[in-house]
Amino acid sequence: MEISEIKVDGYERVARCRDQASGLHALIAVHDTTLGPALGGMRMLPYVSEDEALFDVLRLAKGMTYKSAVGETGLGGGKSVILGEPSKVKSRALFEAMGRFVESFGGQYITAEDMNIGIPDLEIVKTRTRWVTGLSRESGSSGNPSPYTARGCFLGVQAVAEDVWGSKDVRGKRVLIQGVGAVGGRLAVLLKEAGAAVTICDINEARVKELSAAHGFAVVADEKHLEVACDIYSPCARGATLNGETIPKLQCKAIGGAANNQLLAPEHGDQLRQRGIQYAPDYVINAGGIINVGVEMLPGGYREEEALRRIDRIPHNLKKVFEISRRDKISTQLAADRLAIERIQAAKASKVAR
Ligand code: NAD
Repeated sequence: MEISEIKVDGYERVARCRDQASGLHALIAVHDTTLGPALGGMRMLPYVSEDEALFDVLRLAKGMTYKSAVGETGLGGGKSVILGEPSKVKSRALFEAMGRFVESFGGQYITAEDMNIGIPDLEIVKTRTRWVTGLSRESGSSGNPSPYTARGCFLGVQAVAEDVWGSKDVRGKRVLIQGVGAVGGRLAVLLKEAGAAVTICDINEARVKELSAAHGFAVVADEKHLEVACDIYSPCARGATLNGETIPKLQCKAIGGAANNQLLAPEHGDQLRQRGIQYAPDYVINAGGIINVGVEMLPGGYREEEALRRIDRIPHNLKKVFEISRRDKISTQLAADRLAIERIQAAKASKVAR
């Protein structure tokens, strides 16, 4: 196995691993550990080149730094990528080698599930390093993050409601949810229980049918969902759905949902601001999962009550973001990045002072 360093400005450590025996070709990026060890998922994709993989891992690692800083997880930001087509390259030897690569960071990088990587893969990684999180509750780990992400999104939607209408009470508010999978489905139930009028859409018709039969949600076809007027729009399916084509069509006052990377580009945050639509930045409102995982790293290990206590701070973090957005007259997305940078700089300054 050969591990080589890649020098990248602004990153604490970036390394490449090539292992002939298993065929592993992977990269790990540690962006910033000022606030704690760098936690971020491991993903596997058939990247066309190492440059493409490097671009992805750097972007994602930095994103994790910001997400953790705003979510107050006590963690820094990192990420790992394995180059390859999952159906062709996955093997026990490959994940054992990946485990040794993670171990070579000595705890500076901590891994978790991400795209095309499942619990069985991470169980193999775990045989070579202890720096693996998000495994089953039975094994002492934090388990499935989705209910925690949904809980955080629910509290976040309440915080957006408070910002826009002066009360976090969502009774009677019309909420439109796109994507009712693990997170969106649970969020829909929480909102309905709190008195909101929930409309759902999803490309999985069976899932929509099952949920609406069980909970009485209104349903709209996915391709027509932007024609529905609502108070709060909650994207919980996939990224880049807030873009130049969709933003002019939106008929809502606020947006708060779980999907990652909802804005196609930063300028779309400005477009939302110009339209007077209050946007809860994705990585602030959907941090419940990472906050839950982060609790594994505390002395004494995972405790659900501690995770819930920390997730309860998501509304506070959103309020801060909204304040910065108003203070600096910038999009809420940019305001979230600014809050992250302010927190990291404050921690750096207090380390120097000590
Ligand atoms: P999921 O796969 O369980 O659910 C996604 C749902 O969206 C599915 O029901 C799917 O059919 C639907 N969908 C996909 N494409 C669609 C489209 N074009 N139109 C309408 N519906 C579509 O995923 P999840 O775990 O619920 O995550 C949802 C989103 O939240 C993802 O973007 C994910 O990256 C993000 N997220 C999830 C977590 C978590 O803890 N699971 C944490 C942070 C962010």
